[in-house]
Amino acid sequence: MGQKIEKTTPGLSLPAGKTAIPACPQTTIRNPIFCRGTGLHSGRDITLKLVPQPANSGILFQRVDISHTPPFRLTPESLKGARLSTIIADPDRPEIQIATIEHLMASLHALAIDNILIQLDGPETPIFDGSAQDFAFLLSCAGQKELPAPRRFIKILHPLIIRGENGAFVSLSASKKREFSLKMAIEFSETVIGSQKIAFVLKREDFLKNIASSRTFVSRDEIETLHKQGLALGGSLENALVVEGDHVLNPEGLRSADEFVRHKLLDAIGDSYCMGYQIIGKFDGFKSGHELNNRLIKALAMHKETWQFIS
Ligand SMILES: [Zn+2]
Repeated sequence: MGQKIEKTTPGLSLPAGKTAIPACPQTTIRNPIFCRGTGLHSGRDITLKLVPQPANSGILFQRVDISHTPPFRLTPESLKGARLSTIIADPDRPEIQIATIEHLMASLHALAIDNILIQLDGPETPIFDGSAQDFAFLLSCAGQKELPAPRRFIKILHPLIIRGENGAFVSLSASKKREFSLKMAIEFSETVIGSQKIAFVLKREDFLKNIASSRTFVSRDEIETLHKQGLALGGSLENALVVEGDHVLNPEGLRSADEFVRHKLLDAIGDSYCMGYQIIGKFDGFKSGHELNNRLIKALAMHKETWQFIS
């Protein structure tokens, strides 16, 4: 009797001027960082600079080689095309384009970076070795910082499917779990690729260990056609797997027997982050590429009844 119970929550008092970090906070990188590399299609030497941003900024891109060009925020509206890579443009100035963003986007997605400014002095991000591991390394060197705002997710409520040619499709559907899971299957006539499939739940460590180092690939026959179209001018065995029949031309061989489907999964992880928010749901892809992935994201943005924001 008479005993007084005080309700206290330890650890919630903050020094004056500090703002509380929510349980699942937005993030940015801790420090600016830059690097140089070759653009796969332009063959140009390109500098990539990553700059921290405050909460609710989103993923911003800026072409610093074109004067009077402010950054623009990546949204589904920025998706402009997908000839071999995902190309974005400033919706207000369609001539301001940036290509081959998908491997950087996959790393941002997997490392859960919500806010960042990406500056480039050329028309595409560097290709490095054709995988995402150098982007992931760059981001880990820059460090990560939590911000005083809750992370927002897109929770899929109803299925959405986009069909392409020869049975190809991509779809999104609801998940009972609070995660983004992906399935991918491919079929190629080159026997070194053949039929491959993979299932994956997006988690930072699993991405770094099993997916990030898988490289982009091209068939030897395609290379001449691409060069005639002024594409893949910076391509070499240093930045892509080149396949011919039952083997790869790269002297070091494959990093894993199913490196091809792992790379397709990597591309899907990157392309799905072009919503600007992480998705909670299931992604399923069959013989899909950037074109179908981008159509799916645009359809998702249009069909707002198929999802809702959650924090
Ligand atoms: Zn790729």
